[in-house]
Amino acid sequence: MGKIMPNRLDRGFYKYQAEFEAKALEVLRSGWYILGHEVESFEKEFADYLGAKHCVGLASGLDALWIAFRVLGIGRGDEVIVQGNTYIASVMGITMNGATPIFVEPDEYFNIDAAKIESKITDKTKAILVVHLYGQASNMSPILEICKKYNLRLVEDCAQSHGAKYNGQQTGTFGDIGCFSFYPSKNLGAFGDAGAIITNSDKIAIDTKIFRNYGSEKRYYNKVVGANSRLDEIQAGLLRVRLKHLDELAQEKEKICGRYLSELNNKKFVLPKVRDGATHIWHQFVIRSKYRDELIKFLDDHDIGTIIHYPIPPHLSEAYKYLNVKEGTLPITEEYAKTVLSIPLYNGMTKEEQDYIIRVMNEF
Ligand SMILES: *Cc1c(COP(=O)(O)O)cnc(C)c1O
Repeated sequence: MGKIMPNRLDRGFYKYQAEFEAKALEVLRSGWYILGHEVESFEKEFADYLGAKHCVGLASGLDALWIAFRVLGIGRGDEVIVQGNTYIASVMGITMNGATPIFVEPDEYFNIDAAKIESKITDKTKAILVVHLYGQASNMSPILEICKKYNLRLVEDCAQSHGAKYNGQQTGTFGDIGCFSFYPSKNLGAFGDAGAIITNSDKIAIDTKIFRNYGSEKRYYNKVVGANSRLDEIQAGLLRVRLKHLDELAQEKEKICGRYLSELNNKKFVLPKVRDGATHIWHQFVIRSKYRDELIKFLDDHDIGTIIHYPIPPHLSEAYKYLNVKEGTLPITEEYAKTVLSIPLYNGMTKEEQDYIIRVMNEF
């Protein structure tokens, strides 16, 4: 069987090889590679899929976060509330604009603990950045109430939640802007870097389109100092292929995780939980264990690879020393960083691989 890797992007490619190859050739032969038919079509199809008015393709998920706060006018002197246990790019989207992240502890579903937000609001608070971490929708009802009560902007980091819903509504459509990454390992993954924002606001969509293209709406007439953050035609084309299969890819992962949830039974680790009213698209299957280091070694000895998402929370990383958020300030976040472990999960995982992972994990 060979070593089982935490992820296998090649399997996702070979599943639809003929379609991907046909699309790649079509774009290569078209002679048009930046901001054309494929990007426009993908933007329309992805917005429709989510039930949003606009999608604007960008170069990466981090760019989507950075540009989201930029077009909302959030920057120096402003505070943005975000969960402590996120991927560091969420926080960089805030700080690249000069704004300050204010960290809130996660709940037992690994998402922001809505009950702990209000005490962090000050007169500098401008927005909440909700991260639907690992693929599960966050607890949106109380968060929406808080945004309304304090007149805050709501931005969603959906880099891991393509297609996840809360009370039947797609993540990314609750707030002002939903930010997506199509990094190859994401549930809707490209074959290189790619990202997008979605929004129901005409103004935000136009401002984002201007910003991504040197600040110009009309060629050589520049309104603002923008960036080059365009989604490539070839990536957009390949994303259109994957988007057509996104629901069936999600069902396949749901089945694998259903087996993990019902067949893994070892008291040495805790399984992830799904919130009532939320759906989980299983970007990662994240367990927690006090014996994590031994478990990693045991699995590795049995040719099963794992990853930690994430070993160092943003507030303790060297990059954010300047924020001066000391160790011990976010005990739950820090505890998660010491105990979480992502086990292998990918489209195209064979039954034999699933059986083996379940058997070995139960033997630990
Ligand atoms: C992947 C990811 C990002 C960054 O996306 P890139 O496309 O890699 O820039 C941001 N936030 C979260 C939660 C992510 O998982």
